[in-house]
Amino acid sequence: MAMAAAGELHFLLVPLVAQGHIIPMVDLARHLAACGGRVTVVTTPVNAARNRAVVEGAQREGLAVDLAEVAFPGPEFGLPEGVENMDQLVDMNMYLGFFKAVWRMEAGLEGYIRSLPRWPDCIVADACNPWTAPVCDRLGIMRLVMHCPSTYFLLAVHCLTKHGMYARVADELELFEIPDFPVRTVANKATFRRFFQWPGVEKEERDVFEAEATADGLLINTFRDIEGIFVDGYEAELGRRTWAIGPTCAARMDADARDGRGNRADVDAGWIVSWLDARPPASVLYISFGSIAHLQPKQAIELARGLEASRRPFIWAIKEVKNATVREWLDGDGYEERVKERGLLVRGWAPQVTILSHPAAGGFLTHCGWNATLEAISHGVPVLTWPNFSDQFSSERLLVDVLGVGVRSGVRMPSFFLPPEAEGVQVTSAGVEKAVAELMDAGADGTARRARAKDLAAKARAAMEEGGSSHADLTDLIHYVSELSKKKRQEREAAYAGKTAHLPSP
Ligand code: UDP
Repeated sequence: MAMAAAGELHFLLVPLVAQGHIIPMVDLARHLAACGGRVTVVTTPVNAARNRAVVEGAQREGLAVDLAEVAFPGPEFGLPEGVENMDQLVDMNMYLGFFKAVWRMEAGLEGYIRSLPRWPDCIVADACNPWTAPVCDRLGIMRLVMHCPSTYFLLAVHCLTKHGMYARVADELELFEIPDFPVRTVANKATFRRFFQWPGVEKEERDVFEAEATADGLLINTFRDIEGIFVDGYEAELGRRTWAIGPTCAARMDADARDGRGNRADVDAGWIVSWLDARPPASVLYISFGSIAHLQPKQAIELARGLEASRRPFIWAIKEVKNATVREWLDGDGYEERVKERGLLVRGWAPQVTILSHPAAGGFLTHCGWNATLEAISHGVPVLTWPNFSDQFSSERLLVDVLGVGVRSGVRMPSFFLPPEAEGVQVTSAGVEKAVAELMDAGADGTARRARAKDLAAKARAAMEEGGSSHADLTDLIHYVSELSKKKRQEREAAYAGKTAHLPSP
């Protein structure tokens, strides 16, 4: 991205401590720094360590990006020491304590800012970090809110909330039309739930709404070619200035930074690349369910059998090996030995963008997390959609119905709505085999889908280049920050004038 006038601006970015939020924020840090700004990403020690490779990569390119650490008070809320990221939560009971601890980071953030010789010009806080609002209010620093899901999802759940649909419709699976939505869309509650729409975090959700309503502006990780109509709709509904500044993943970075994106991979990335080098173009299916979603054991085994039956080369980032049933089945069944000529299991974290950006990547079986969605789009890889919860079902619709770059696996609802006897299975091995064949098909439909995916990738990259819509939005945002932060600094200086000398110079 070309230089814009960020001048001496110092941005402090505060992501939610979850992979789907930290990764795009660190990407955003690179883009802001490429516009001349200085950027500090504030996170906890475990998350800082995980993201150091990417930040050091940015520094090697001469970008002014840095990390700062604020302690995570997890142990105060019953979490084990070192559990600082949503992908480390192993059962639902940990979620409540996790969000309480996230909210308690407020004092650490404020202390950190007060310790700086010159306070930052602007705080960009994740929408799920509303606890940053009182800090900014007390210190007189402008605050932008960054959203990590699609605007399609944000606007849909906003409309459902505004029109009281969650209260009015009793049955989770009952279908209804989303009122006031720019395109006719039939939905149900099960697949269009808000992020914080579950018992125990009602106060936290109220804080989220309040902090968004009082923000100095909103950033969304998207681009106007795919979501312009929803971005305009959301801006009008919220009455806040809104910038579409993505896809943030469309950034060139060196191999070390790219391979260590979000975490050190549980496999040698160089080896993965040579494995891919030996495969024909667009022949390999990559499978990942992101950092949080886990298939239930029986479903994971059906998927494994379906992949084997598909006879296509594949790389599967399989978190489910943490489950004893899956691990024992894999080891006892000799699965890896049978598929070893063409199938790779990465037991844990895979270098996802390294894989998707390789010419051999021909399909992506994805849970449709918004980052995975943008990464598939940016690299022109058609998708096999397998949503699990939250915004993932709406991303599936966007990919399949609106953009025409996907094939559905057949998942209909979050697995916690299935009857217990289903044991989490929504797609049988035969269903997997059929869907993979359809996605990887070399006939007219598959070829047209691949062409649409390539076309979208070109648009995604163009949006981030000079002259592109996201570049224009980012440039406009920087001008806005430049003006508003100057005003805020003057107000601060006026408020501090005449006060005691031991106060820090803000
Ligand atoms: N990711 C990765 N390797 C993995 C799993 C995930 O690099 O093995 C990255 C992925 O590229 C994406 C992020 O983690 O940037 C996950 O975000 P997403 O919104 O796709 O899903 P979530 O984890 O939030 O459900």
